[in-house]
Amino acid sequence: MEILCVFCFALVFGVSLDTMDQSRKRKFSPVWDHFDLITENKVKCRICSQELSYINRSTSTMLRHYRARHEKEEQVNSPVINTGASRKQAIDEAIVNMIIKDCQPLSLVEDEGFKELLQLLEPSYVLPSRKPIKTMINQKYEEKKEQVKKELLR
Ligand SMILES: [Zn+2]
Repeated sequence: MEILCVFCFALVFGVSLDTMDQSRKRKFSPVWDHFDLITENKVKCRICSQELSYINRSTSTMLRHYRARHEKEEQVNSPVINTGASRKQAIDEAIVNMIIKDCQPLSLVEDEGFKELLQLLEPSYVLPSRKPIKTMINQKYEEKKEQVKKELLR
């Protein structure tokens, strides 16, 4: 399947880029690791199941809840939050986002300069090859498509 960049996608489906951008921000705000959206204006904490209101797409209530209730616990239980697998995942995701957002070719992951930059920033990180990156982009595309469909049907 041909991959559309989000901007072409927005054009084709007539979705405002503003909406796309907000949903992208929403999606990648780290606080979403701890909350699920249960209705349009309600979220549920994954750690303690408490429901919070979600207004104007603002994550501040969630952040406050998380910081007040869970941040300390998590630091005690897992002092290595941003290392290892989750760190790799975060970088993978950032690269996928970069490819989508900046309309970069998949061959980006084979570019010497890009590799050197990553090596400098994160010596332990190993870049995925084209194939897994392509799979991740396809997944994002499908997610985005579903999301846009829902918004259009609303
Ligand atoms: Zn909670």
